Amino acid sequence: MTPVYLDNNATTRVDPRVLEAMLPMFSGVFGNPSSAHSFGASAKTAVATAREQVRALIGAAHADEIVFTSGGTESDTLAILGALAATAGAGGATTGRSEVVISAVEHPAVRKLCASLTKTRGIVVHEIGVDGRGRIDRDAYAAALSERTALVSIMWANNETGTIFPVADLAAQAKDKGALFHTDAVQAVGRLPFGVAERMIDLLSLSGHKLGAPKGVGALYVRRGVRLGAQTIGGAQERGRRAGTENVPGIVALGAACALAAERLPSDTPRIAALRDSLETGLFARIAEAKVLGDPDSRVANTTSIAFADVESEAVVRLLDRRGIAVSSGSACAAGSVEPSHVVRAMGVLEQFARGVVRFSLSRDTTADEIARTIDCVSDVIADLRADALDPAA
Ligand code: PLP
Repeated sequence: MTPVYLDNNATTRVDPRVLEAMLPMFSGVFGNPSSAHSFGASAKTAVATAREQVRALIGAAHADEIVFTSGGTESDTLAILGALAATAGAGGATTGRSEVVISAVEHPAVRKLCASLTKTRGIVVHEIGVDGRGRIDRDAYAAALSERTALVSIMWANNETGTIFPVADLAAQAKDKGALFHTDAVQAVGRLPFGVAERMIDLLSLSGHKLGAPKGVGALYVRRGVRLGAQTIGGAQERGRRAGTENVPGIVALGAACALAAERLPSDTPRIAALRDSLETGLFARIAEAKVLGDPDSRVANTTSIAFADVESEAVVRLLDRRGIAVSSGSACAAGSVEPSHVVRAMGVLEQFARGVVRFSLSRDTTADEIARTIDCVSDVIADLRADALDPAA
């Protein structure tokens, strides 16, 4: 039986149309975009087309606001270090602004980077908590913002729960205090309608492999006028903001994936949400003591994170894998650790449920048959694990 892949927040299959668009870049159009001859010109044109496709999907005003990178992690790093280099100077010496505000449920690309900034440079980082649904504490956020804030970095949608943050409001509050606003939109781009230009967002990270392009390519949106200190120094690529010969096949793939997402978003979203809802309904009809983590009123359509009481999520993932169903426990990036993820901890999930969190993340390829199979297998696996726990001799 064909395996069921429900781990699209970890990574997605490269869409066949995206693969088709990128393949010529390995052979026919292999030039260096910086070269003066026609090979270079063709590659340069391909990169320009991709830049426009990314711009269009996120609703940026200008194509030159898109900087291509190697993925979400690099985009987050460039945004945070680049903004601090330009705004805060050495310890805020230039502007008096040196503090950073993030949420407690950011991806490690933001959270660990900020922790290292505190450790190595003494930068004050305010980490804002969330409630049981993963919603940011608005009072604590308002209280953390001040004339000392250089940068806010709050994700658009959480990778583990799918909870959507009110980034437009959060950005407006940050701007009121004169701070820059960055959002890690890796799990939101291609899954939600965008209009970055009309929101007060200065910097936005996205990653190709979460939306049908390959791994190793991403982009950072940098609103015109925002000063950014380059983190890779060398050639003049990406208008001096990211030196290094462009990953032309990856960039072309990212552009094609963005164009496809823009075209498919209106029809994909309700269909995927309906499948996600039927998965939840089916599971809750057959499994007691299970609940959705995240905000049911504001979630990306493809994600559901379910906490099953009295089981270990690692065991659930392993047993489902044997039955040909790929899901993840909490966050794939935290796999290997049997501790509940920092997101589950930040949401204050009860201990009985905290170790049994399983994330199902769908894609436009997910079918109703696959959801039906998943419901059957998950129900069996949870029943078996709970029975084993009750029978120590088993
Ligand atoms: N930010 C979020 C919210 C993510 O989910 C991920 C990947 O899981 C990243 C950043 C890192 O992206 P990349 O794998 O492209 O470096």
